[in-house]
Amino acid sequence: MPTATFRFYDDLNFFLPRRHKDQAIQHEFDWKASIKDMIESLGVPHAEIELIVVNGASVDFEAIVQPDDQIEVYPFAAPVDLHPKVALRPPYTGRPAFILDQHLGRLAAYLRMMGFDTRYRNDYHDEELAQVSHDETRILLTRDIGLLKRSLVIYGYYVRETHRQKQLAEITRRFTLRPLIEPFRRCMKCNGVVHEVDKAEVEDGLPHGTASYYQDFHRCDSCGRVFWKGAHHERMQALLDEIIRQS
Ligand SMILES: [Zn+2]
Repeated sequence: MPTATFRFYDDLNFFLPRRHKDQAIQHEFDWKASIKDMIESLGVPHAEIELIVVNGASVDFEAIVQPDDQIEVYPFAAPVDLHPKVALRPPYTGRPAFILDQHLGRLAAYLRMMGFDTRYRNDYHDEELAQVSHDETRILLTRDIGLLKRSLVIYGYYVRETHRQKQLAEITRRFTLRPLIEPFRRCMKCNGVVHEVDKAEVEDGLPHGTASYYQDFHRCDSCGRVFWKGAHHERMQALLDEIIRQS
């Protein structure tokens, strides 16, 4: 049977079964398949791949695997000195915007806290997540490998960490968010943009005593929630400082 040899680099090995990790994989195949399909059948979702090299030349996802091909697969930011490089997707431009699956609600709130436009609902279906990610050029963050194999998904990433604070540091590193952080510019609840507001405008709805302790108030343009620099704000600021330290 025809065989192709696959080698996956760096953290793409995360997706491989133990017997395949950091190994040259001899893969037998008896059907005509695109390199994208064959890579995904080995376990690695296309959204995580940055560069594919076949017999020394960079190729796109649609290349057909031939017998005896030597295939190297690289993740984002892998240092590969090769020219020309075929881009597998257009470069992401502008401020990163995200959409998160239903397992990542806390991470969504924290990304909003850091000022990133982040869509999240706990009832999005897989189809919707993929479609919105595609239509609105949002980076899909998920704990579901299958979602990142959907062809609609262009920009996506599997969140490795399970602890939410570590997740936030991981995403901050992966997408180089640090210089882009704008603390408390978005509502953690609804993703709306938050603006400063006169105390007199919001005084009536505040909990008893709050108006006498605090002077600076902000309000979410979308849901109308009012924020002030109380204990919650201090906890969030401390968390943010910690994330910046870790990332
Ligand atoms: Zn809001």
